[in-house]
Amino acid sequence: MFVSRYMPCERCGESLDRSIDAPHECAPDRLVEFEMFGLREEIAELDARYRSYLRTPHGRFECWLAARHVRRSR
Ligand SMILES: [Zn+2]
Repeated sequence: MFVSRYMPCERCGESLDRSIDAPHECAPDRLVEFEMFGLREEIAELDARYRSYLRTPHGRFECWLAARHVRRSR
């Protein structure tokens, strides 16, 4: 069985050399990119889910309420 020398960090996805015994510290920007990559499907669906919500009774009420607030703030 082939065992790779490199393993991805579970938190940030960075390729880590397992033969080097050094602590790994995840880079904050890499952590964010990795999280965003993991959420890509949810992010892609967000607009459709939001529009779907706006067609529900609660969503229509929220739209009505928001429009009312805008009208009153003028
Ligand atoms: Zn990491």
